[in-house]
Amino acid sequence: MPVTVAIIGAGPSGCYAAEALVKSGIDCQIDVIESLPTPYGLIRSGVAPDHEKTKRVTRAYERTLLDVRVGYFGNVEIGRDLSLKELRDCYDAVIVAVGAPLDRSLDLPGGDKAGVHGSAEFVSWYNGHPDYRDLGPDLNCKQVAIIGNGNVALDVARILVKTPAEMAKTDLPAYAAEAIHNSPITDVYIFGRRGPVQAKWTNVELREMARLVDATPVVDPVQLPDSVEGKMSERDRRLSSKNLETLRGFVGQEPDAASKRVHFVFQAAPVEVFGGAHVEGLRLERTRLEGGQAVGTGETIDVPCGLVVASIGYRAKPMEGLPFDARRGTVVSSDGRVKPGLYVVGWAKRGPSGVIGTNKPDGDAAARQIAEDFTKGEKPGRSALQQLLELRDTAWVSFEDWKTIEAAEIAAAPPGAPRKKLIRIRDMLKVLDP
Ligand SMILES: Cc1cc2nc3c(=O)[nH]c(=O)nc-3n(C[C@H](O)[C@H](O)[C@H](O)COP(=O)(O)OP(=O)(O)OC[C@H]3O[C@@H](n4cnc5c(N)ncnc54)[C@H](O)[C@@H]3O)c2cc1C
Repeated sequence: MPVTVAIIGAGPSGCYAAEALVKSGIDCQIDVIESLPTPYGLIRSGVAPDHEKTKRVTRAYERTLLDVRVGYFGNVEIGRDLSLKELRDCYDAVIVAVGAPLDRSLDLPGGDKAGVHGSAEFVSWYNGHPDYRDLGPDLNCKQVAIIGNGNVALDVARILVKTPAEMAKTDLPAYAAEAIHNSPITDVYIFGRRGPVQAKWTNVELREMARLVDATPVVDPVQLPDSVEGKMSERDRRLSSKNLETLRGFVGQEPDAASKRVHFVFQAAPVEVFGGAHVEGLRLERTRLEGGQAVGTGETIDVPCGLVVASIGYRAKPMEGLPFDARRGTVVSSDGRVKPGLYVVGWAKRGPSGVIGTNKPDGDAAARQIAEDFTKGEKPGRSALQQLLELRDTAWVSFEDWKTIEAAEIAAAPPGAPRKKLIRIRDMLKVLDP
């Protein structure tokens, strides 16, 4: 009997795990179970709509999901339609590839006011994730505060200040385009607790800020150190130096040359969101750096704003039957092995770090561990899963069905855009059963 493997989640880490198993030489049957009808996780709902090239990695994932050994069960959520225990009863091995979809909460006085969002929910909203379609962020403000110095903060700022023409050839959903492009936003602030040297963005993303059609990046030269100091790897030093050079390039730009601005403000730690029921501003404490760490100085600044987006990290959702580290927001494992027969990969294993390709070695590790733990299969796998789903009347979406949904999205795309995303699950299912 082949070893039967279920992978929960069809994001990058689930797809890399399937690919590693297919290439491993293990005699196995693999089923990928995904809560949405659509595969690819954050490639669809996280990666910025104006970064279409980044999404091309899905072509390789598609080849894996079309392999004869691989099955796809979309629209099936573990924890809702089936429990992890039931799945483990059906399969020899289960790989958890569920990502880290929840925002780390902004633990500040006033952090629960209307108008404060985590970047996970805000990005999911403008990227058309069905669960966030109705988030309805209030963009009726001139100033926006984004907290955090990672690439996601840059994505959010860019999407808020790009012109309709710059976004026309993207898959930004019409409702999000309408809300963003009709908003009076003129100034977006990106705040970092530490300095530009400690910022986590990649240089390619930072440089994009200088190429915006109607927005200017603004930075106070006083905030930029002359050189990159402190203990770090040579690679990090090179990256930080490049980022510093890019930020210096922003200095000479005329802030009022465009109708919008993106302000980079360093060494400013948020301490309070103020206002009434709705956010009216953000109070920040100036910091000084000690050994690369931010230490409060007691001096505060108030920045009026009507929207706060906190991009300060992600955490996995706890699942019954999985040991969970609540502090890190990840599944507890020893390099991905939770116990024999149960493995974890991707952001659910490591937390939110690295780029898409960083998830690949996790899949290789899981395939290696499964090869160590099993010489042959014992559990029935796919037939048992199908039986259970039929018994529960759960309509799953096959990979062929997904291709039908994808074809409908491509056919409906406005000129030059890659697709017009279907957002509601019922609309996706309607395509399959018109
Ligand atoms: C806003 C944002 C932008 C990014 N942009 C880039 C970029 O431009 N370039 C880059 O290299 N990296 C980017 N990344 C990082 C990249 O997206 C991640 O490294 C990668 O998606 C992590 O893969 P994953 O499979 O662990 O998680 P995910 O991509 O989150 O996939 C998890 C999948 O599991 C499914 N799932 C969850 N729970 C269940 C359940 N109970 N049952 C069934 N299915 C379930 C989810 O629906 C999802 O499809 C970005 C990340 C974010 C948040």
